Amino acid sequence: MRYAILGDIHSNETALQAVLKHIDRENVDVLVSVGDVVGYGPSPGACISLLREREAVVVKGNHDAACVGELSIQHFNNYARKAVIWTKGVLTKDECSWLSELPLSVELNDCEVSHGSLFQPELFNYTQSISDADLSLESMKTPVCFVGHTHVPVTLWRPATNGGITEFNFEMVIALAEATKSLVNVGSVGQPRDEDPRAAYALFDSRQKTVELRRVQYDIDLEAAMFRDAGLPEVLAERLYLGV
Ligand code: ZN
Repeated sequence: MRYAILGDIHSNETALQAVLKHIDRENVDVLVSVGDVVGYGPSPGACISLLREREAVVVKGNHDAACVGELSIQHFNNYARKAVIWTKGVLTKDECSWLSELPLSVELNDCEVSHGSLFQPELFNYTQSISDADLSLESMKTPVCFVGHTHVPVTLWRPATNGGITEFNFEMVIALAEATKSLVNVGSVGQPRDEDPRAAYALFDSRQKTVELRRVQYDIDLEAAMFRDAGLPEVLAERLYLGV
């Protein structure tokens, strides 16, 4: 099976369209999303529709939960909070029910998927250290799990040769057979935070046991204009150019 895995779209339709165009050339069997379909950007409905059309397997992110009133926004920064309030005002009832029904984690044939951590996914904790990763790695039932949430692509894994110690790397091609367990953060489509403004996604080939982390250029001018037209905070449009 070939899986395309993407996440943290954050209502950025221009970036999502560009990524889907790439994915369409890759003979993919299943489209998977690690969550945060909405929040920040101006096109929540369009992004939800694109995933639904393609029957994507989607898990719930913290922004998705906040935008349907399931999570308090008190820990969100000021701009994120404003974007959640804006998003709440434009989501249809049907879009809200779809977001609300998303699972917190999913186990597929070849991999597992969660937004922040496979361990207690309802807490939306960030996986930013080896000890964070260990909690998810211990919870895994399949050899690979995909997450997002930090908006930074990275692999945390246990190489088969080092006695089970968890390590991390920023390789763009990951040979899963070299590790007993791997936790792969696929980065963000709509709000990258690793100083690379290009949209991120991953391709997972379960037969070849490889994951490729990809980056795709998209029309940031167009998307930034859409942010401004929607009246979203200017800083959210500006950061698209910087990938921060
Ligand atoms: Zn996010």
